[in-house]
Amino acid sequence: MNREPLAENLARVRARMAAAAQRAGRDPSAVTLVAVSKTHPVEAIQAAYSLGVRDFGENRVEEALPKMAAVQAWLAQQPGAQPITWHLIGHLQSRKVAAAVGPFDLIHSVDRMKIARKLSQQSQARGLEQAILLEVNVAGEASKYGFRIEEIGPALAEIAALPHLHVAGLMTMAPLAANPDEVRPVFQRLRSLRTALAQRAPQFERSQLSMGMTDDFETAIEEGATLVRIGRAIFGERE
Ligand SMILES: *Cc1c(COP(=O)(O)O)cnc(C)c1O
Repeated sequence: MNREPLAENLARVRARMAAAAQRAGRDPSAVTLVAVSKTHPVEAIQAAYSLGVRDFGENRVEEALPKMAAVQAWLAQQPGAQPITWHLIGHLQSRKVAAAVGPFDLIHSVDRMKIARKLSQQSQARGLEQAILLEVNVAGEASKYGFRIEEIGPALAEIAALPHLHVAGLMTMAPLAANPDEVRPVFQRLRSLRTALAQRAPQFERSQLSMGMTDDFETAIEEGATLVRIGRAIFGERE
């Protein structure tokens, strides 16, 4: 991809993000753009970096790691380069946990206790603290991964006892909808869940809400998203 449409796409996405934040009376700087570079080559990540993007999301560990290594090697050659924050946003298989711990700054897709336990073990073995989000299947769709809303309280209680994990917030994927207003209640429910959790654990008040993609990020920002995961609106349609 050449830089021209990428620069235009990014400018448009950033303007739409800022406008959505302003409509909701929010500070636009409270929302971080995670550019979803899955299926796109290293050059696309470098081009987006040179346009100011510092957060990238990938959904498959085995695709992401070589790309991340190449980008990090490139970054090391850039004088005064600012670091990249890497996000794992896709479903994490149990046997990929060991490889995911460390390279990813934030794992959005912790969708079951088994994965949380494995992440804790692997983080402990590496002597690092892994930041995670709990993925919530708000709409209860059979086709989607994630904890059900009522499972989050018990899951958090159990995770609190696991060493080397830091729960930084919640993530959801809204159902496909013809109109982004149809998914507004999903985003509202994720935010209410955070409010409910904050009553028991006040540190949750300011925790992350990872919600909103190309088709619904403005609605998600209006409803409180702090991280939006945007692929197609930045890099174009995937093959
Ligand atoms: C691919 C993906 C996105 C980005 O989707 P777009 O529609 O391209 O913006 C966001 N979140 C997850 C979990 C994804 O897998």
